[in-house]
Amino acid sequence: MTTMTALKEIPLIQSGIHKTRSVCGYCGVGCAVDILTKDDRIVGIQPAMDGPANEGALCVKGQFAFDYVHHPDRLKMPLVRRGDGKLHETTWDEALDVAAAGFRQVVERHGRHAVYGIASGRTPSEANYMMQKFMRVGFGANYIDNCSRA
Ligand code: SF4
Repeated sequence: MTTMTALKEIPLIQSGIHKTRSVCGYCGVGCAVDILTKDDRIVGIQPAMDGPANEGALCVKGQFAFDYVHHPDRLKMPLVRRGDGKLHETTWDEALDVAAAGFRQVVERHGRHAVYGIASGRTPSEANYMMQKFMRVGFGANYIDNCSRA
């Protein structure tokens, strides 16, 4: 009886819950999901039954790991570590300049094999191509990987 109740369709409109079709961004499989929101907050994720890659199934990450979206510790601005040793919010322009200077400094001190690139599993093929070009042409290093393995 409990199982039957759990499987019943939730009356979404009456409950104030909205359903938005999207794609899970955790890995490269690309499972289709229906994101359930109420009052601008995510309250659940359902697998899309007609998702071509997942056909109604999701792994635990895709189905349940969404609490980070509203977590108070979530980073919303780039941070750089300044002379006081602490992280400070900054602009993307400054953060990228600091990161580029850091890469240059490492290569100057330790050589091109001291840098390693890891692309996000969320990136499309074109971005992964650019990432390997960045490492190979920019630094002369072949150390490049991604985290597409879910
Ligand atoms: S396998 Fe899991 S992590 Fe990858 S897209 Fe599907 S639900 Fe998301």
